[in-house]
Amino acid sequence: MKNIYYLFFIIPFFGLAQQKSISESLFTEYENYKESTITHRKFKHSDIKPLIDELRSENGFSITALGRSIQGRSISMVSIGNGATNVLLWSQMHGDESTATMAIFDIFNYLKKNKEILNNLSLHFIPMLNPDGAEVFKRRNAIGIDINRDALRLQSPESKILKAARDSLQADFGFNLHDQSSYYNAKRTNKPATISFLAPAYNYEKDINKTRGNAMKIIVQMNDIIQKYAPGQVGRYTDEFEPRAFGDNIQKWGTSTILIESGGYKDDPEKQFIRKLNFVSILGAIHSISTNNYENIPIKKYSEIPKNDRKLFDLKLTNVTIQYLGKNYTIDLGINTTNIESKENNSSYQIGFLREIGDLSTYYGYKNIDAENLIFKIGKTYPKILSNVDEIEKLNFDNLLRDGYTTLALDSIPEDLIFTKYPIKFIAVKDIVITRDNTIPKSPLQLGSRPTFLLTKNEELSYAIINGIVYDFSKQEN
Ligand SMILES: [Zn+2]
Repeated sequence: MKNIYYLFFIIPFFGLAQQKSISESLFTEYENYKESTITHRKFKHSDIKPLIDELRSENGFSITALGRSIQGRSISMVSIGNGATNVLLWSQMHGDESTATMAIFDIFNYLKKNKEILNNLSLHFIPMLNPDGAEVFKRRNAIGIDINRDALRLQSPESKILKAARDSLQADFGFNLHDQSSYYNAKRTNKPATISFLAPAYNYEKDINKTRGNAMKIIVQMNDIIQKYAPGQVGRYTDEFEPRAFGDNIQKWGTSTILIESGGYKDDPEKQFIRKLNFVSILGAIHSISTNNYENIPIKKYSEIPKNDRKLFDLKLTNVTIQYLGKNYTIDLGINTTNIESKENNSSYQIGFLREIGDLSTYYGYKNIDAENLIFKIGKTYPKILSNVDEIEKLNFDNLLRDGYTTLALDSIPEDLIFTKYPIKFIAVKDIVITRDNTIPKSPLQLGSRPTFLLTKNEELSYAIINGIVYDFSKQEN
């Protein structure tokens, strides 16, 4: 009896331990496999096409031309391995969701040198299913269809290609690779949902059959891997059935489907660390499928993964005291930052927009300012109206801020002055608003605006918020 007892318990744990050591070595050796020609997330079809062409001469790789996008860009499938279990992975059906595509090219580099993971498997990758969307870094395809709502009607060539690939392979496992907003968090925590998972439902009843159950087991293992490198930063999507979506239908058609959504990670705007997490966890899942060691995972562990929520701001200010029409109010502010790229000089700049005002105690921030005892003040506009950029450069901006000036008026904003590195808001003279004595002034905070104000303590300046970006006076940090 004793021996049998041990056998039952040791086998599953051995599987998990092996899984762990493989993900550890994938994590530490990642740089050896990272595809060096992809360095940022806005690459295009023309950037990955030569990489796919190179694979044609690579031992064990085969390339299948699946068809073309609406605008005629090629969509290819890269296959590796001759095993009986077919695994299909597709990325970027939404053109602006490129994190997993980057990881797929890292995985190709890994598979060039490590074929043992292919035991029993045939892997099939469709990187960048929506190249027309990727061209303009937009979600939808060239005629404005969300491919992920076209699984039944199949109007887009991209949708037909995915359906045909799944059907011809009768894939056992499918990885549906996406990105989500960086404002998702693991529910009731301040941790971003850096990776979110879903084993999509295949009916309104949300039944769990063997196909869906296997997807849940793989997700439990992937969650274990991610937790190691981004603790607490995993979310689980709600499994409402969406009859038009690909994940839900591919699950229904008998392929165990795993949805992976790459979200946000602090100070990783190009999602390069998240790319690494994709690499490690997807290869970990592939290893688990090739060794069948997911089979002993209890399905109930899937529902223990925290739910996804959307409660993050880039910047959260708490307990700001604002005075309006002679009264004080305590409010929290939620500000989100948008990165805007300037084509002219190949640089980018940031603007923050005010997205919420009020009690934000159920929300979190990537960056937080405790504004308890700080008073909101509207900054002053510099008294001299400037006529050109040379005059601007002569000013000492740190001193201007210290004197409480947050705004500078120009005769007109020159067209090439798209952004400046100065911590001050520029406005054109024509945009100066004059409030007449007999009208009630607007509140100084407007939803959707680029907030510009000062926070003071005992008349001393603590912070300036200029166009939604923080300047910390104590650190002189801009
Ligand atoms: Zn998506």
